[in-house]
Amino acid sequence: MTNYRDETRYSIGVDLGGTDIKAGLVSSAGDIFSRVVLPTNVESGGPKVVAARIAEAVRQVLVHAETANIDLISKNPGSTDEGTSHLLTDDRHEIGVGLGTPGLIIAETGVVHFSPNFPGWTDIPLVAYVNAELEKLHHTKHAAETGTHKKYKPILRGMDNDVNAMTLGELHHGAGVGYRSLVALTLGTGVGGGVVIGGRVYHGSRNTAGELGHTIVEPNGRVCGCGNLGCLEAYAGAKNIVERIQEKIAVGRRSSLNKAMRDGIVLTPRMIAEAAQAGDELAIEIFAETGRYIGIALTSIAHILNPQIAIIGGGIAEAGEKLLFEPIRKEFSKRAMDIPAQMKIVKAHLGNDAGIVGAAMLALEGFF
Ligand SMILES: [Zn+2]
Repeated sequence: MTNYRDETRYSIGVDLGGTDIKAGLVSSAGDIFSRVVLPTNVESGGPKVVAARIAEAVRQVLVHAETANIDLISKNPGSTDEGTSHLLTDDRHEIGVGLGTPGLIIAETGVVHFSPNFPGWTDIPLVAYVNAELEKLHHTKHAAETGTHKKYKPILRGMDNDVNAMTLGELHHGAGVGYRSLVALTLGTGVGGGVVIGGRVYHGSRNTAGELGHTIVEPNGRVCGCGNLGCLEAYAGAKNIVERIQEKIAVGRRSSLNKAMRDGIVLTPRMIAEAAQAGDELAIEIFAETGRYIGIALTSIAHILNPQIAIIGGGIAEAGEKLLFEPIRKEFSKRAMDIPAQMKIVKAHLGNDAGIVGAAMLALEGFF
């Protein structure tokens, strides 16, 4: 890894989702400039079409940077070929690009083995596809008009699972700054996980490490999307939190959300959190239970890995300290052995930006 903290350098982070491609120019201090959001348009074609959209997002980021007079070259004095921006033989300066992609990603070969967001994608060499599209940018009419691509040569240097990318973002620029061993949980539709050991994301023997959402918290519990019973995700995933409160209301528990349910309004975790904040006892109970399950999972994780800190992000984490984090810590400290129990449990810092910042860090770590 390069000593990229020594000077301001830029790389481009791309957060590929099923709906949107989010990209931005990220400084080595973790600040985002020149944000671009494009629809992924996965319905309109296969992985090569998506690769072309990613290249287009990168092009737009570079044009924005140019318009905003961000000079990617002069801010990089003394860059060497270890860096993210250096003079190439064709006089263009390389700008490293990193890509976070949902699914099972083979980071060292740049292949998407499988992605739930992209049905039918099996063993797609996405890094090669994107780099082929980025190379084409140099020859477009637009490049000739603006000159941007006469100056810069963007190259995709790293791709990883989106949650691993977010974990890397939190490690370098978020709640994980200063730590060498940490775990991250993202509480969204599903429950994602990332593991950092010795300052590096741990991938396991076959790239599947860090599936912390599938830690078993009830041996004969709720059915998880993975097919197993009683995974953390089956309790703490957005859909599952909603199902749990609906089931209790259906058997007669009283809640301020009864009326919304009767009116056919689809409940969301945010509505449940708001009800809880307004004092709804059942909603408070649902979050306390969610926190308890997360605390149980973190106990196993702390006993296996003994990390310094657990970082919890994603939409559900917005429920906050009182509703969610206090029950998590209470359960964890009740169960964990004294030394692993010293693991800190904190909310993620980067919010929605973690994907872009983390992806940009992948460019700096540079697999390719
Ligand atoms: Zn599962």
